[in-house]
This record gives sequence, structure tokens and C-alpha cells, in this order.
Amino acid sequence: MAKLYLIAGHGAGDPGACGGGQTEAANVRALASRIKALGGSDVEVLDTSRNWYADAGINRLTIPKDAALLELHMDGAVETARGGHVIIKSGYEPDAYDKALADDIARILPGRAEKIIKRSNLANVNRAAARGINYRLVECGFISNAEDRAIFNSRMDEIATTILASFGLTQAPSIAPSPTPVPVATKGFGGTYRCTVDGLRIRTSPYIRKDNIVPNVSYDKGDEVVLDDWYQSHDGYIWGRYTGIESGLKRYVAVGKPTGKPEPDDYLIRI
Ligand SMILES: [Zn+2]
Repeated sequence: MAKLYLIAGHGAGDPGACGGGQTEAANVRALASRIKALGGSDVEVLDTSRNWYADAGINRLTIPKDAALLELHMDGAVETARGGHVIIKSGYEPDAYDKALADDIARILPGRAEKIIKRSNLANVNRAAARGINYRLVECGFISNAEDRAIFNSRMDEIATTILASFGLTQAPSIAPSPTPVPVATKGFGGTYRCTVDGLRIRTSPYIRKDNIVPNVSYDKGDEVVLDDWYQSHDGYIWGRYTGIESGLKRYVAVGKPTGKPEPDDYLIRI
């Protein structure tokens, strides 16, 4: 299993592209940290305090021969432009990593006619080639497009997991381990539940985090949700899961405290 090295684009005073009050430099650093959190020791995030384009750091970078290097960016353009793509060096054929990454990023962030673009005039593309480093740059959609921004922010863990999978690295199971893990149930948990509180957050992963909240939606008192049979205990809650009707994505909600049985003050009560 090859190790994945990450460069977060821009930084050191260069915000990169901007849109919706967000900067490319901050967004790709957030993504890099999620890839690291989910990928564990298979992932190495290169110094994010640096601007690797401006300081030409790749000219002095040495990574193991079988490792891969990925540089994270977001595009900026007119507000209507959207979609992600992968950039490799002119004259190179995309390898299996490039192809898998381009397919996956274009599935999550559709909109570009070409999923893989070959460039001869990008400094880091050429620097990496000169050093024989297995390199590509990914544009994770357009920060100037509201829809791409929403996808980037609300589906960051999915993008991170997808990037890991493109490089043959599976998601590390050890993130935020619960002190008293409850085994994953295979049967019996699923069913229709009714919400007992207002504003129950919907998340893209079963953890209390700032970056996994699905924006602008929540469950309120009296709402019903059909959970599947999966559940886990993390961060002081039992988490249930369902698949979003519109998004087709797995969503997670806190059902209640992990007391070992349903309680009257659970957020979701089975009906
Ligand atoms: Zn950029």
C-alpha cells in the first residue's frame, strides 16, 4: 500500500481563489486534515504553513519511490462554472490513481467536459516530473460556484474518503474511537423513528464535528425518519443512519445517549 503525500495549495499569505466568504487556501487545508484524519498513517500532509508553489519546495522534496503526491486546489472563475478535474503533465498518460481520482471527483463535483487535463506550464507539475515524483493536482470544484461550495463543505468526508480510495487507501477505522465501543448491529435497529426535539442535526459522518453538519436541514419535534439497521456509539451518542432521498448519500443522526437501551429522553424514539 503506497503512502499518499498531500500538498494543500496556496497559503503563507496567499488565499488562492475566493468565493462565498471562503478562501481556497483554508478550504483545501480543511480537506487535507480530513484526509489525514480518515487515512491515518498512510497519509502525510506536507507543511501547510508553506506555499509550495511560491517557495518551489518540490525542487527539494524527496518522498519514497512508491509514494504518490497529490496537490489540492479549488478553481475560481465566473459564478456559473463548476465541476472538479485532475491535472497531469503533458506527455504523460494518466495512471490508475489519476483515472480513479478523476472519475470520483467528477462524480461528486460534476460539470467539467474534461475530467483529466494535461498541462505543460504549471510549475509544480513540472517540478514533480523533474524529480520523478508520482504527482497530480486536483481541482475540487469551483469556490466561485455556490453549488460546488456547498458540496465541498457538506460532503468533505466523502471527498476525503473518495480520494483515499482512489489511491488504494481505505478509510482508517480508528478515528475518534469511543472509549466503550458498541459493536455494529446488523439487525434490529432499523425502523421508523420520531424526533422528540427541535433542530436535530444531520451529519455526513457519525461524529460531533463542525465540518460534517449538513447545512440548512435538521429534524424537528414530530418529524419521522426511517433508520437502517446500522448503528454505532461515538462521541457520547448512539448514531443511527439513513440514506438521503434526494442526495442518495448516507446521513447520520444522534439517536440518544448510549445507555444500552431506548430511553424516554432519546432524540429519536422508535414508533
Ligand atoms: Zn489554486
